[in-house]
Amino acid sequence: MPGKKNIPPLKKEFPALSRKISKKAIIYLDSACTALKMKSAAREQSDFLLKFGGCAGKRSVHLLSREVEAEFCAARKAIALFIGAKSPEEIVFTSGTTEALNIAAASFPFKKGAEVILSPLEHNSVFLPFYRLSKLGKIKLRIIPLKDFKPDFSAYKKMLNAKTALVCVTRASNVFGGAVDIKKFINAAHKNGAKVFVDAAQYIPTHKENVSGLNADMLAFSGHKMGAPFGIGVLYIKKSLFKSLNSSKLGGGTVKEIAYKGGSYKVDFFKNNAVYEAGIQNYSGAAALRKSFEVLNKIGYQNIRARIQEIVQYACAKLSSFEKIRVLGNRAELKNGSIVSFICENPRFSIVDFNIFLNEYSSKHFVAVRCGRHCADLAVLNSDIKSTIRLSFFIYSSKRDIDVFCVALGAYLKSLS
Ligand code: PMP
Repeated sequence: MPGKKNIPPLKKEFPALSRKISKKAIIYLDSACTALKMKSAAREQSDFLLKFGGCAGKRSVHLLSREVEAEFCAARKAIALFIGAKSPEEIVFTSGTTEALNIAAASFPFKKGAEVILSPLEHNSVFLPFYRLSKLGKIKLRIIPLKDFKPDFSAYKKMLNAKTALVCVTRASNVFGGAVDIKKFINAAHKNGAKVFVDAAQYIPTHKENVSGLNADMLAFSGHKMGAPFGIGVLYIKKSLFKSLNSSKLGGGTVKEIAYKGGSYKVDFFKNNAVYEAGIQNYSGAAALRKSFEVLNKIGYQNIRARIQEIVQYACAKLSSFEKIRVLGNRAELKNGSIVSFICENPRFSIVDFNIFLNEYSSKHFVAVRCGRHCADLAVLNSDIKSTIRLSFFIYSSKRDIDVFCVALGAYLKSLS
């Protein structure tokens, strides 16, 4: 396997892989939902919690607080570098992609009649905040048609107009896999004077991204999908955008000064990332997220991609050898992502039964996959597919996982005949 020698002992880094459930080994093929957690990142978080006291943000100025401020700044700086942001100030820590999207939707200065264009692959965490704004009459929501499991670029270009304020595109679909060539979507939006939000939740964990090169205006991802703890994520905001956004969530740490002048209070809010991080933050989560980036960098993204590409191609080939199994998406493009989704065209195939079968079939293995709409109803409703069976991979995945899964799939299909 390419790059294998550079990949550290993953069983040590991911202790959950060594767990047994009812004496069965875990075959974890649901990393797109949430990845198994890295020992180094979990250790970083617990060491942080046990060592440090105080809060960051220059509220308290005693030594313990100054230490946490320094650690939080260091995590911000490192993550800015990892994703190619021009400045640490472009990094807003959030609880995850969902919070980032809610912040973006509520903070964007939509003018009357503004239109927001979403790709048809968007997760509900993108769709729902904008759906609510559209129901409140604040924006008009438009969805790009789906073509060959991708947003139709020609149709999109025709949708752009003077009212388009914001475009949201996912970098990699959590339903159909692959990766979207979003640079052309971003360039077209910019030519039209619109801003672009990129959902990179399924991309950042296994790809090297450069947000400045991409020229995204905003971009979000979640730490838990890349081995970091739950409850930490990032909203990247291009520096030049801060002056026009209005933070939706206010509180401690978001103001320069509050004064009482001429009979009323005057509040001078920060016009930078601080205004999006109201209150005490997940400092230990930020440190752990930095650690998970360090581990991935040490492994090397070329190695990670080579390994996952090989698994994606292997899975496609093995699945396609089954009668009535249809792998979704373009085979040549799927290798750019970390997901393989498929459907079974046998009407007797039941997703619910299959899930139970996967847990019960083997005496040696417990197989975890995800079946359904994957919280991305737009993608499903814009296609002729009701639900999919999704295999998703992270750095610990292996071809053996696919072999074990396919044995169970074969046995289930046989049981239907
Ligand atoms: N976008 C995509 C593409 C996703 O796959 C997910 C999680 N499945 C989200 C957004 C939401 O991420 P989170 O639940 O971590 O906020």
